[in-house]
Amino acid sequence: MKRALVWFRNDLRLSDNPALAAAVRHAEEVLPLFVLDPRQTGACSFGLERLGPWRQVFLREGLADLDARLRGMGSGLRVVVGHPDRVLPELAHTWEASAVYAQGLNAWEERQQEEAVARHLPLDLHPSHTLLHPDDLPFPIHKLPRVFTAFRHKVEARWQVRETLTAPEALATPDDWAPGPLQLTELLPGEASTDPRQVMSFRGGRAAGLERLRHYFQGHDAPLRYKETRNALLGADLSSKFSPWLAQGSLSAREVYEALKGFEERLGANEGTYWLVFELLWRDFFQFTFAKHGPALFLRKGLTDALPSSDQDQGRFQTWCEGRTGEPFIDANMRELAATGWMSNRGRQNAASFLIHDLGLDWRMGACWFERLLIDHDPCSNWGNWAYIAGVGNDPRGGRRFDPQDQAARYDPDGTYVRHWSSGEDR
Ligand SMILES: Cc1cc2nc3c(=O)[nH]c(=O)nc-3n(C[C@H](O)[C@H](O)[C@H](O)COP(=O)(O)OP(=O)(O)OC[C@H]3O[C@@H](n4cnc5c(N)ncnc54)[C@H](O)[C@@H]3O)c2cc1C
Repeated sequence: MKRALVWFRNDLRLSDNPALAAAVRHAEEVLPLFVLDPRQTGACSFGLERLGPWRQVFLREGLADLDARLRGMGSGLRVVVGHPDRVLPELAHTWEASAVYAQGLNAWEERQQEEAVARHLPLDLHPSHTLLHPDDLPFPIHKLPRVFTAFRHKVEARWQVRETLTAPEALATPDDWAPGPLQLTELLPGEASTDPRQVMSFRGGRAAGLERLRHYFQGHDAPLRYKETRNALLGADLSSKFSPWLAQGSLSAREVYEALKGFEERLGANEGTYWLVFELLWRDFFQFTFAKHGPALFLRKGLTDALPSSDQDQGRFQTWCEGRTGEPFIDANMRELAATGWMSNRGRQNAASFLIHDLGLDWRMGACWFERLLIDHDPCSNWGNWAYIAGVGNDPRGGRRFDPQDQAARYDPDGTYVRHWSSGEDR
């Protein structure tokens, strides 16, 4: 009897899951599990909890949904706490599993986890977090261009998006692998109540992700207007809001792409629909940049020889975190983040710029605060964007400062957004 562990990571789905598909092909029985690594849920180097309440709730919902789907196929998810290189070999030994199948990831810690596991067990990795498969890039990863535009031109010239995979028809799992319901609130106790002011309600997991995908591409013509509306601060459908489900992998980037192509067949393609792919390419670009540069983008100097501020003044940092800087546009965005785990892209750019260029603080403190709160946190997208704005990442212009008052005048001309987040109760 050949058994395999299936280590779910940022791929909380059964469809378009090449690691699961490979396990089902090669093993007679599969043992699905998710590992909560305390190094990634505990405190960051600035003492901030890395997996804050909003993220805990969103992950809990994603895991519960995956477990229910697995149970529907006669299987079930086991969630374990520990270092993957310890818990996976132990489970493999106890359950007589001969290999591990998992999603291959790009960020440094995740790759360290993979290397550590592979020292103990055969580990079969399948990259599935990006739109483009790394093997289909027209260059080896060490030749990835430093600048996004060069990357985009190269990949667009040899465009290839793989088709999505269907979910396995059946899963054979020993009955006693996941006997009872998951006790997720014990492992992820975070509590977060919804705020009536939030841009939309976000629920983790595949069902909610699919519902968002259907709504965005079937409900109306929002994708056709995406390029003009994507910078809006309020409004559920003015950008796709796919990022939280993409980050936990309850939707894959290829599934989003397929749904977009279906939309274009029905309603036509235009600059708006192209721009959605353009943004998904930014996401890929950050993923591949991390694959190329290892831990560099977690360092203060990033990819450069620059010496950005090392000032870690707690007082100024707290005013920023709590939305008390005195700059209304920044404060409104920071209050939205704290109250909901969400902030628009325009808000993120401004909040990051303010911490770096106006408050003069170490950019990594801001990245850690976002990591704690954002329900769509992804190490490559978060740290890559922060490094970009700090001028130590991929920006050919050496960093971005946004003038908050100019930005407010442009994106919130009548102050609706600032008023929206200045009223009501904060938690
Ligand atoms: C300082 C800072 C931190 C950020 N941290 C994260 C993060 O942790 N996780 C995250 O997913 N995004 C992050 N972003 C990128 C971006 O803000 C979000 O992806 C976007 O706001 C999500 O909203 P949406 O799904 O409506 O995006 P849309 O505008 O609808 O874009 C479609 C998709 O493209 C991708 N995308 C769009 N813009 C970017 C970008 N600049 N970088 C990478 N991918 C992008 C996302 O997957 C998004 O869902 C960050 C940006 C900044 C400036």
